[in-house]
Amino acid sequence: MTHTHRSKAISHIYGPVPSRRLGYSLGVDILPFKTCTLDCIYCQLGRSRQKDIKRKSYFCPEEILAQIKEAVESGQRINYITFSGSGEPTLNTILGPLIREIKKLTNIPVAVLTNSSLLKKAEVREALKKADLVVPSLDAVTQDIFTRINRPHVSLNVKDVIQGLQVFRQEFSGKMWLEVMLVKDLNDSPAHIQKLKETIALIKPDKVQLNTVVRPPAEGFAQPLDQERMEEIRGQLGDIAEIVVDFPKKEQNPRDKNIQKAILAYLKRRPATLTDLTTSLGIHNNEVIKYLDRLRKDGKIRVVQHSDQQYYEPY
Ligand code: SF4
Repeated sequence: MTHTHRSKAISHIYGPVPSRRLGYSLGVDILPFKTCTLDCIYCQLGRSRQKDIKRKSYFCPEEILAQIKEAVESGQRINYITFSGSGEPTLNTILGPLIREIKKLTNIPVAVLTNSSLLKKAEVREALKKADLVVPSLDAVTQDIFTRINRPHVSLNVKDVIQGLQVFRQEFSGKMWLEVMLVKDLNDSPAHIQKLKETIALIKPDKVQLNTVVRPPAEGFAQPLDQERMEEIRGQLGDIAEIVVDFPKKEQNPRDKNIQKAILAYLKRRPATLTDLTTSLGIHNNEVIKYLDRLRKDGKIRVVQHSDQQYYEPY
């Protein structure tokens, strides 16, 4: 049987996108949309339909590697090759082998963003070993707050997550920047910040990066902290901490402008979800998120919640 309608190969890479922390970052996404151990209330990708805990092999590593190779050889400026994207990268068993292959291909440093939930597993720490930078997140140090913010898979316990981070730090020779997403009235109390500080002293990351909810979250009740409270918390945590809230940039290049025009034109025809826009524009959802964010801040579009889904529509 011949297929007249062959689907295009999935693009696993996006960018390089300029980012404040990593410079020009080539994003590598190795998971099907929203494959995660958690269901964070602030997730930009919306709610997790189902939480995964079992590591599996997703996609063909040769195909992903070929896409990375092409981007690296294109001569674009790339400061980091960064695993992030549609979910938790350590859920994919090809992560470790892929990092090793990238290391043979280029000297560009490799970063991995992870939610830390699987670091207690020796094979996950092993997979991350060759990375240059790991940015693990930790938003809660009590089970109660962990459950409320990160809505983890039932088998996950925050004590194990913290222990996994400690062991990983001891074994890992690269840089470790611990990211904390602060959510108003959920993990920002002075008592919780004090406990967080004690936990950070045990984990010993190179830096602590404080973020807050600046992009449309999965749940409307996940609210950001104001600048003043962010500064206070930074002060309480000491010199190891910095604020990294990624506010959208003012200046724009022509490609950005064209994509924003295309998004607006689409939304004028009908409201759309993130997935609708990603599919129709053929660009990665992490990129679409940045454009939507920008349009929202400029007051051109808004987010509305219909049942389980978030829709974007013009103002
Ligand atoms: S860990 Fe990341 S991808 Fe997973 S639910 Fe939380 S924010 Fe979303």
